[in-house]
Amino acid sequence: MNKPFVIAIDGPAASGKGSLAKRLAKELEFDFLDTGALYRRIALHTLESGIDPSNTEAVIEAAQNFGDELAKDYDDSALRNDGVGNAASIVAQIPEIRQILFNFQQNFAKNSEKGAVLDGRDIATVICPDADLKLFITASTEKRAERRHKELQSRGLDATYEAVLAEMQERDERDNVRLKDHMDPNVDNHTIDTSEMNPDDVFQRALDFYKSSSR
Ligand code: C5P
Repeated sequence: MNKPFVIAIDGPAASGKGSLAKRLAKELEFDFLDTGALYRRIALHTLESGIDPSNTEAVIEAAQNFGDELAKDYDDSALRNDGVGNAASIVAQIPEIRQILFNFQQNFAKNSEKGAVLDGRDIATVICPDADLKLFITASTEKRAERRHKELQSRGLDATYEAVLAEMQERDERDNVRLKDHMDPNVDNHTIDTSEMNPDDVFQRALDFYKSSSR
Protein backbone atom coordinates (compact mmCIF):
# COMPACT_ATOMS: atom_id res chain seq x y z
CA MET A 1 0.00 0.00 0.00
CA ASN A 2 1.30 3.45 -0.91
CA LYS A 3 2.13 5.86 1.89
CA PRO A 4 -0.38 8.73 1.96
CA PHE A 5 0.84 12.08 0.67
CA VAL A 6 0.91 14.48 3.63
CA ILE A 7 0.62 18.26 3.32
CA ALA A 8 1.48 20.25 6.47
CA ILE A 9 0.24 23.83 6.61
CA ASP A 10 1.29 26.10 9.47
CA GLY A 11 0.80 29.77 10.19
CA PRO A 12 -0.61 32.33 12.63
CA ALA A 13 -4.30 33.01 13.36
CA ALA A 14 -6.35 34.39 10.45
CA SER A 15 -3.53 34.00 7.93
CA GLY A 16 -5.84 32.17 5.54
CA LYS A 17 -4.29 28.75 6.18
CA GLY A 18 -7.60 27.13 7.13
CA SER A 19 -9.46 28.06 3.95
CA LEU A 20 -6.44 27.09 1.87
CA ALA A 21 -6.09 23.72 3.61
CA LYS A 22 -9.77 22.92 3.09
CA ARG A 23 -9.67 23.89 -0.57
CA LEU A 24 -6.50 21.92 -1.27
CA ALA A 25 -7.96 18.83 0.40
CA LYS A 26 -11.12 19.11 -1.69
CA GLU A 27 -9.19 19.62 -4.92
CA LEU A 28 -6.84 16.67 -4.29
CA GLU A 29 -9.49 14.47 -2.62
CA PHE A 30 -7.35 14.22 0.51
CA ASP A 31 -8.59 14.00 4.10
CA PHE A 32 -8.53 17.27 6.00
CA LEU A 33 -7.79 17.96 9.66
CA ASP A 34 -8.17 21.41 11.19
CA THR A 35 -5.92 20.87 14.23
CA GLY A 36 -6.83 24.25 15.76
CA ALA A 37 -10.36 22.86 16.06
CA LEU A 38 -9.01 20.09 18.33
CA TYR A 39 -7.60 22.67 20.74
CA ARG A 40 -10.85 24.61 20.40
CA ARG A 41 -12.87 21.49 21.26
CA ILE A 42 -10.89 20.97 24.44
CA ALA A 43 -11.25 24.69 25.24
CA LEU A 44 -15.01 24.62 24.66
CA HIS A 45 -15.38 21.47 26.74
CA THR A 46 -13.35 23.14 29.52
CA LEU A 47 -15.44 26.32 29.43
CA GLU A 48 -18.71 24.35 29.34
CA SER A 49 -17.56 22.34 32.36
CA GLY A 50 -17.02 25.59 34.25
CA ILE A 51 -13.24 25.13 34.35
CA ASP A 52 -10.94 28.13 34.08
CA PRO A 53 -8.67 27.46 31.06
CA SER A 54 -5.67 28.60 33.09
CA ASN A 55 -6.34 25.95 35.76
CA THR A 56 -3.79 23.55 34.26
CA GLU A 57 -4.53 20.51 36.41
CA ALA A 58 -8.29 20.70 35.91
CA VAL A 59 -7.86 21.22 32.15
CA ILE A 60 -5.60 18.15 31.89
CA GLU A 61 -8.06 16.02 33.85
CA ALA A 62 -10.98 17.15 31.70
CA ALA A 63 -9.00 16.51 28.50
CA GLN A 64 -7.93 13.02 29.59
CA ASN A 65 -11.58 12.03 29.86
CA PHE A 66 -12.47 13.70 26.61
CA GLY A 67 -11.21 10.88 24.35
CA ASP A 68 -13.60 10.05 21.51
CA GLU A 69 -15.26 13.43 21.69
CA LEU A 70 -12.33 14.79 19.71
CA ALA A 71 -13.51 13.18 16.51
CA LYS A 72 -17.14 14.20 16.96
CA ASP A 73 -18.85 16.73 14.70
CA TYR A 74 -19.15 20.07 16.37
CA ASP A 75 -21.28 23.11 15.91
CA ASP A 76 -18.77 25.19 14.04
CA SER A 77 -20.14 28.53 15.20
CA ALA A 78 -19.53 27.59 18.85
CA LEU A 79 -15.96 26.59 18.06
CA ARG A 80 -15.23 29.66 15.94
CA ASN A 81 -16.17 32.07 18.73
CA ASP A 82 -13.19 34.31 19.61
CA GLY A 83 -13.53 33.55 23.34
CA VAL A 84 -13.05 29.86 22.53
CA GLY A 85 -10.09 30.74 20.28
CA ASN A 86 -8.44 32.58 23.13
CA ALA A 87 -9.12 29.78 25.60
CA ALA A 88 -7.70 27.36 22.99
CA SER A 89 -4.46 29.30 22.85
CA ILE A 90 -4.25 29.10 26.66
CA VAL A 91 -4.85 25.34 26.91
CA ALA A 92 -2.48 24.80 23.95
CA GLN A 93 0.37 25.95 26.15
CA ILE A 94 0.01 22.92 28.39
CA PRO A 95 2.50 20.21 27.28
CA GLU A 96 0.17 17.39 28.46
CA ILE A 97 -2.60 18.74 26.22
CA ARG A 98 -0.24 18.87 23.24
CA GLN A 99 0.77 15.27 24.02
CA ILE A 100 -2.85 14.07 24.13
CA LEU A 101 -3.45 15.61 20.71
CA PHE A 102 -0.11 14.43 19.28
CA ASN A 103 -1.19 10.82 18.72
CA PHE A 104 -4.60 11.81 17.39
CA GLN A 105 -3.03 14.06 14.75
CA GLN A 106 -0.25 11.63 13.77
CA ASN A 107 -2.72 8.78 13.38
CA PHE A 108 -4.98 10.92 11.25
CA ALA A 109 -2.12 11.59 8.82
CA LYS A 110 -0.87 7.99 8.85
CA ASN A 111 -4.28 6.40 8.38
CA SER A 112 -5.50 8.59 5.56
CA GLU A 113 -6.03 6.67 2.35
CA LYS A 114 -4.80 8.82 -0.48
CA GLY A 115 -3.40 11.78 1.40
CA ALA A 116 -4.02 14.25 4.19
CA VAL A 117 -3.90 18.00 4.67
CA LEU A 118 -3.36 19.18 8.26
CA ASP A 119 -3.29 22.82 9.27
CA GLY A 120 -2.03 24.22 12.55
CA ARG A 121 1.04 25.67 14.22
CA ASP A 122 3.43 22.76 14.62
CA ILE A 123 2.44 20.35 11.87
CA ALA A 124 5.56 20.66 9.72
CA THR A 125 7.92 20.61 12.68
CA VAL A 126 6.43 18.35 15.38
CA ILE A 127 3.42 16.37 14.16
CA CYS A 128 4.47 15.50 10.60
CA PRO A 129 8.16 16.40 10.28
CA ASP A 130 8.33 14.03 7.29
CA ALA A 131 5.43 15.65 5.44
CA ASP A 132 5.75 15.52 1.66
CA LEU A 133 4.88 19.20 1.32
CA LYS A 134 5.26 21.89 4.00
CA LEU A 135 3.68 25.30 3.64
CA PHE A 136 3.90 28.30 5.93
CA ILE A 137 1.04 30.76 5.41
CA THR A 138 1.39 34.18 6.94
CA ALA A 139 0.20 37.81 6.70
CA SER A 140 0.83 41.02 8.62
CA THR A 141 -0.92 41.34 11.99
CA GLU A 142 -2.90 44.33 10.69
CA LYS A 143 -4.15 42.44 7.64
CA ARG A 144 -5.12 39.44 9.75
CA ALA A 145 -6.99 41.68 12.20
CA GLU A 146 -8.70 43.44 9.28
CA ARG A 147 -9.91 40.10 7.87
CA ARG A 148 -11.08 38.86 11.26
CA HIS A 149 -12.89 42.17 11.84
CA LYS A 150 -14.70 41.90 8.48
CA GLU A 151 -15.63 38.30 9.21
CA LEU A 152 -17.11 39.26 12.60
CA GLN A 153 -19.06 42.11 11.00
CA SER A 154 -20.42 39.79 8.32
CA ARG A 155 -21.68 37.52 11.09
CA GLY A 156 -23.45 40.52 12.61
CA LEU A 157 -21.10 40.65 15.60
CA ASP A 158 -20.15 43.95 17.06
CA ALA A 159 -16.42 44.58 17.58
CA THR A 160 -14.13 47.49 16.78
CA TYR A 161 -11.07 46.98 14.58
CA GLU A 162 -8.90 48.17 17.49
CA ALA A 163 -10.33 45.53 19.83
CA VAL A 164 -9.82 42.79 17.24
CA LEU A 165 -6.25 43.95 16.60
CA ALA A 166 -5.48 43.99 20.34
CA GLU A 167 -6.88 40.48 20.74
CA MET A 168 -4.91 39.26 17.73
CA GLN A 169 -1.70 40.70 19.20
CA GLU A 170 -2.45 39.07 22.53
CA ARG A 171 -3.03 35.70 20.86
CA ASP A 172 0.09 36.06 18.71
CA GLU A 173 2.12 36.83 21.78
CA ARG A 174 0.85 33.74 23.56
CA ASP A 175 1.23 31.54 20.48
CA ASN A 176 4.69 33.00 19.91
CA VAL A 177 5.87 31.30 23.08
CA ARG A 178 5.67 28.20 20.97
CA LEU A 179 6.21 29.71 17.57
CA LYS A 180 9.90 29.91 18.25
CA ASP A 181 9.90 26.23 19.23
CA HIS A 182 7.46 24.92 16.71
CA MET A 183 7.11 27.22 13.77
CA ASP A 184 9.84 27.49 11.24
CA PRO A 185 9.00 30.07 8.58
CA ASN A 186 11.92 28.81 6.53
CA VAL A 187 10.63 25.27 6.24
CA ASP A 188 11.52 24.28 2.69
CA ASN A 189 11.05 27.94 1.73
CA HIS A 190 7.40 27.26 0.94
CA THR A 191 6.22 30.43 2.60
CA ILE A 192 3.26 32.36 1.24
CA ASP A 193 2.64 35.87 2.58
CA THR A 194 -1.05 36.41 1.87
CA SER A 195 -1.15 40.08 2.96
CA GLU A 196 -1.60 41.36 -0.57
CA MET A 197 -2.99 38.23 -2.22
CA ASN A 198 -6.53 37.06 -2.90
CA PRO A 199 -7.57 33.51 -1.91
CA ASP A 200 -7.52 32.26 -5.53
CA ASP A 201 -3.91 33.36 -5.99
CA VAL A 202 -2.91 31.76 -2.68
CA PHE A 203 -4.59 28.52 -3.75
CA GLN A 204 -2.85 28.58 -7.15
CA ARG A 205 0.55 29.21 -5.56
CA ALA A 206 0.04 26.31 -3.13
CA LEU A 207 -1.11 24.04 -5.96
CA ASP A 208 2.04 24.90 -7.92
CA PHE A 209 4.13 23.93 -4.88
CA TYR A 210 2.19 20.66 -4.70
CA LYS A 211 2.73 19.89 -8.38
CA SER A 212 6.43 20.48 -8.13
CA SER A 213 6.74 18.32 -5.03
CA SER A 214 4.36 15.45 -5.75
CA ARG A 215 5.90 12.07 -6.34
O1 C5P B 1 -5.98 27.90 14.28
P1 C5P B 1 -6.95 28.24 15.39
O2 C5P B 1 -7.16 29.71 15.58
O3 C5P B 1 -8.24 27.52 15.27
O4 C5P B 1 -6.24 27.67 16.71
C1 C5P B 1 -6.67 28.00 18.00
C2 C5P B 1 -5.47 27.98 18.94
O5 C5P B 1 -5.00 26.64 19.10
C3 C5P B 1 -4.26 28.76 18.42
O6 C5P B 1 -4.29 30.11 18.82
C4 C5P B 1 -3.07 28.01 19.00
O7 C5P B 1 -2.77 28.51 20.28
C5 C5P B 1 -3.59 26.60 19.19
N1 C5P B 1 -3.04 25.68 18.21
C6 C5P B 1 -1.81 25.10 18.47
N2 C5P B 1 -1.31 24.16 17.62
C7 C5P B 1 -1.99 23.80 16.52
C8 C5P B 1 -3.23 24.40 16.22
C9 C5P B 1 -3.73 25.34 17.09
O8 C5P B 1 -1.18 25.44 19.45
N3 C5P B 1 -1.49 22.85 15.72
